[in-house]
Amino acid sequence: MTPVTRVLLLGGTGDALKIARQLGPASVYSLAGLGKVPEDLPCAVRVGGFGGSEGLARYIESEQIGRVIDATHPFAAQISANAVRACAAAQVPCWALRRPAWQAQTGDDWRMVDDWNAVIAALAPFRRPLFTLGREPLAHLDEIPPHQFWTVRCLESHQDHPRARILATRGPFTLEGERALFALQAFDVVVSKNSGGSATEAKLDVARERGLPVIMLRRPALPDADRAFDNVAGLLEALRQESALGA
Ligand code: NAP
Repeated sequence: MTPVTRVLLLGGTGDALKIARQLGPASVYSLAGLGKVPEDLPCAVRVGGFGGSEGLARYIESEQIGRVIDATHPFAAQISANAVRACAAAQVPCWALRRPAWQAQTGDDWRMVDDWNAVIAALAPFRRPLFTLGREPLAHLDEIPPHQFWTVRCLESHQDHPRARILATRGPFTLEGERALFALQAFDVVVSKNSGGSATEAKLDVARERGLPVIMLRRPALPDADRAFDNVAGLLEALRQESALGA
């Protein structure tokens, strides 16, 4: 019989969930524990950190993992670094799904920034920003400048704030839905991570249509994995060739 490769899939993204749906009961889907935990997967699911790269290496060895797949978000740089380091220590291959970054198109007005302080500085001339970079703005609601009203779209719900509206919602977002939201709320700027992928790209199309600037966070540097894929289908095909799916 063909030996089964026990896969540890590091996830927390829609793409990772697609891969998890193709794994078998010997494999493990791992989540940090910030979002929803799926209950309908054919593979095992574990939740929570490993305790750094050393903890991850210990887990790989004790659970006899034969391959690690890093399908975490491109801004989750710590776990990606840990995965490469732990796999090297445990001597198992580390494959990674490295989703291509979005590229500015004709008509785009992107203002590239590297961190929260640069976001705030770039936002100074604007009044009605839409934040789409996760929960970080929630920690700064009491610092909203007097001339601004913030809309913060993120997974977490939060009590109402007199100077902000929190939209607790999860993508994907459609072009029609984004057009309606932008028209209703009259945003004058969008704040985004350069996440890449199609699930949350429509906001950039609508910003372009409306001539709105986008304050875009550059991606963190990620380490080289043993093998990198830029799409789910290619990664699944490679796993299939190694008999690492479904078993
Ligand atoms: P991070 O800074 O790279 O990781 C922080 C710590 O969280 C890691 O050191 C690890 O703890 C634990 N961790 C992260 N992902 C894990 C996983 N899949 N399984 C087990 N432990 C994990 O990550 P982050 O930016 O906080 O993101 C956390 C999770 O949310 C990631 O899995 C990512 O895919 C997902 N996510 C992140 C973003 C984003 O913008 N950052 C957006 C969408 C989804 P230990 O060191 O203890 O092992």
